[in-house]
Amino acid sequence: MKEYDIIIVGGGPGGLTAGMYGARSALKTLIIERYLPGGQVANTELIEDYPGFESISGAELATRMSEHAKKFGAEIISEDVSEVYCEKNDRIVVTDEEKYKAPVVIIATGGQPRKLGVPGEEEFAGRGVSYCAICDGAFFKDQKIAVVGGGDAAVEEANFLTKYGSKVYIIHRRDELRAQKIIQERAFKNEKIEFVWDSVVEKVNGKQKVESLTLKNKKTAEANQLQVGAVFVFIGFVPNSKLVREGLNLDPNGYILTNDRMETNIPGIYAVGDVRAQLCRQVTNAVGDGTTAAVAADKYIESLRE
Ligand code: NAP
Repeated sequence: MKEYDIIIVGGGPGGLTAGMYGARSALKTLIIERYLPGGQVANTELIEDYPGFESISGAELATRMSEHAKKFGAEIISEDVSEVYCEKNDRIVVTDEEKYKAPVVIIATGGQPRKLGVPGEEEFAGRGVSYCAICDGAFFKDQKIAVVGGGDAAVEEANFLTKYGSKVYIIHRRDELRAQKIIQERAFKNEKIEFVWDSVVEKVNGKQKVESLTLKNKKTAEANQLQVGAVFVFIGFVPNSKLVREGLNLDPNGYILTNDRMETNIPGIYAVGDVRAQLCRQVTNAVGDGTTAAVAADKYIESLRE
């Protein structure tokens, strides 16, 4: 079994920052990421709220963060983690290829897009149903596009999708957006965006690909069809918090509970970024969490040696 001081599961901003600080403290640090480093950031067109960068592409920020972590000596590998469990003071990480052990494991696994759970969603996934505007937006050039949701992600990505679509409908279940005001204002000014308030998607319809949505107005209970070539779903997030075999405390929504040192209830297991229960889920938070976790982990490892 390969041994490290710190193993970080997940290579988004939280994991990469924890890796950078861990390696900088001369701890043998491994970051395990299933896909490419960067997490959700890598699939975001522009980041405009990361201090010091008025505007930077998500892919570039992700690359810079991972290069920075590697520069200080963190090792980044691409494997799929299936389980984390405890054996005395060792924390064991099982992947599709290997087993690793370390006194400290930092869970930085983020989460996945929440699904609508309506008929047609699964059937047309990849054929007009998407959860990533930057990945799929260009396929729908000059078509009508729907975006579902009213948070930062939905409204930002709707703005982005107007680069391609002839029209972008934002379908929201209330008559008021949840997104930050600055993001809302940009959407209200965008002539290609039309809001469909108080409405939910009941069905995704089509033959080979998406052709329309069946919507229901929540106030009037009226149903109607909206002709679109694509629907992008941004209705929040389901945390990937199930890797630890047993005993990890979660909040009612499945987010991992930590204290302000990013310690979970299990000694040696930390959680950072979007998988952790907290008010705000921004890149800046994840980076702060990663810093704190690595510093706290360093002290914890020292205490084990005393
Ligand atoms: P979010 O803030 O949780 O918003 C989810 C939206 O989807 C809400 O408007 C919600 O409606 C709606 N919704 C939830 N379940 C639904 C359902 N079953 N059917 C229809 N609508 C549903 O999620 P998010 O926008 O993905 O953002 C996640 C986190 O990332 C947030 O903390 C956000 O601040 C952050 N983020 C930040 C940026 C940025 O700052 N640039 C960009 C993207 C994401 P209600 O409003 O009625 O609850």
